[in-house]
Amino acid sequence: MTRTILIVEDETDILNLIEWHLRAEKYTVLTAADGLNGLETAIRRLPDLIVLDLMLPGMDGLEICKALKRNPKTGHIPVIMLTAKGEEVDRIVGLELGADDYMVKPFSPRELVLRVRAVLKRVDVSPDEEKSIRYQNLRMDMDSHRVWMGETEALLTVTEFKLLLELIQNRGRVRTRDQLLDRVWGYQFEGYARTVDTHVRRLRQKLGGEYADAIETVRGIGYRFKED
Ligand code: CA
Repeated sequence: MTRTILIVEDETDILNLIEWHLRAEKYTVLTAADGLNGLETAIRRLPDLIVLDLMLPGMDGLEICKALKRNPKTGHIPVIMLTAKGEEVDRIVGLELGADDYMVKPFSPRELVLRVRAVLKRVDVSPDEEKSIRYQNLRMDMDSHRVWMGETEALLTVTEFKLLLELIQNRGRVRTRDQLLDRVWGYQFEGYARTVDTHVRRLRQKLGGEYADAIETVRGIGYRFKED
C-alpha cells in the first residue's frame, strides 16, 4: 500500500527537493505552498504523514499543527516539523503541540526520508501484538490506536501512543531515555533526551491523575511505569 505524504512548504526549492526524494521512495506526495491550503488538503485527503514548515504565509506551522491535533479526523496524523536554525523555542513548542519530530534547515533530504520512514513505522503495529492492552481502567486499542480511560478518550499523538505502549509493556522496569528513543523514535542522537522529557510531560498532561502518576521519573536515568 502506498503511503501518502503531504508537504506544506512555501519555499519552492525545498518543496521540490523533498517531493522528489519522497517520490523516489514510492510515496504518493501532495503539496501545499501556504498554511491554509495545507490545512484544507490535510482535512480533505487525510494523508498518512505531514511534513510541515514552521514559517508559512497566512497560517504558520504551529497554528496548523494545533488545528490538526484538535480535529478528530486529523489528530492522529503524524507531523514532522521543518524549522530554520535558531528557532529553538519554537521547536520545543512545536513538539509540545504534538509534532512527532522536527528537522532543522538546512537538512539532508535523505535524512528526512529516513525520519519519514521511522515515523510511519511507529504508526504500524505488528500483527502478532495484542489487540488491546489494559492497565486498571486504561485501555490501549492497538487497531485503532486509541486510548481510553474508562469512557473518556485520551487524544494521543502517534509518538505519545508508542511511548505509553513501551512504558506499559515494560511495567515495573526502568526504561532509559536512550532505550525509549531507540524503541519509540527508532533512532537516537545527541540532544534528544529532552525530546523524551517533553513527550513524557505531554503524555502525563493528557492522561492526568492516577495514570500520570503511574509514569514515574527515575532521576538521571529515565522513566518507569508503575506495577499494578
Ligand atoms: Ca517557510
